[in-house]
Amino acid sequence: MKETGISWTHHTFNPWMGCQKVSQGCKHCYAEKMVTGRMGKPLWGPNSRRQVTSEATWKNVEKWQRDAAKRGVVERVFCASLADFFEDHPDVVDARLKAWELFRRCPNLHFQLLTKRPQNIRRFLPRDWGLGWANIWLGTSVESVEVAHRADILRQISATVKFISYEPALGPLHTLDLKGIDWVIFGGESGPGYRAADPQWARDMRDRCARERVTFFHKQSSAFRPGQGETLDGVLHHDFPAPRFVQLGIPKPALAKAGGGAGTVDGDGAAAADAETVGAGAVDGDGVAPPTDPSRSHAAA
Ligand code: SF4
Repeated sequence: MKETGISWTHHTFNPWMGCQKVSQGCKHCYAEKMVTGRMGKPLWGPNSRRQVTSEATWKNVEKWQRDAAKRGVVERVFCASLADFFEDHPDVVDARLKAWELFRRCPNLHFQLLTKRPQNIRRFLPRDWGLGWANIWLGTSVESVEVAHRADILRQISATVKFISYEPALGPLHTLDLKGIDWVIFGGESGPGYRAADPQWARDMRDRCARERVTFFHKQSSAFRPGQGETLDGVLHHDFPAPRFVQLGIPKPALAKAGGGAGTVDGDGAAAADAETVGAGAVDGDGVAPPTDPSRSHAAA
């Protein structure tokens, strides 16, 4: 059941709130406006604290899991919309470990972890990450060529789905290497003072994705109101990637063999040596579940 206005996910879960701006894409951060403005919480910047969310917020996730399991579906959860899951901040260390344990208990939920700090991903993965957990998608934001190196870092990490959020699109990304990337979400900036995106940037990315067999999702063109301009040249591109490996039931930490399934695992599969410790489940390297996502709305490109 969809519970968020973000078109590429079903739910949003914030284990904590607060962040710090790191690049031009953060300039008009809606999360900062919401948390520091509307909610009146001083949780932004390097010297501010971060606030772990309430028990009720965390319990919602377990409820989504129960509901999805009862209906026999998989739903997507964007984590986090009011923070960066891979921010290196002392206030979030315990919450991040707790979140991994929660993710482990929710096989019917695919958690979409989007970060502007991919350089921290390896350090904060669970020890038994292996080739990746079946229900964790890893993504990074690339708003312009200046931060295209984020995709290079993501490419080196194994995951069932790797995605790029090209939002807010601030320039063309002709030189972005899409190798090893499964999914690109295009979004123009929205809100007061939005920086207009050239529709040609979206067309170019759409066409490159088609050529390179990367799934393309057009969220919106730049506009005053979020969600305006959902179509591109009159066509709705709301496509989702087929995860490299999917397993329903109790999620095992790693489920794919390199080269298995329709989507090959191209990462090195090495667990982070200096990862925060979470659980101690053994890596189960056998068996490749069908690379399909029961929740996707269209076939992958
Ligand atoms: S990383 Fe994301 S949440 Fe953090 S300031 Fe930038 S846009 Fe906002």
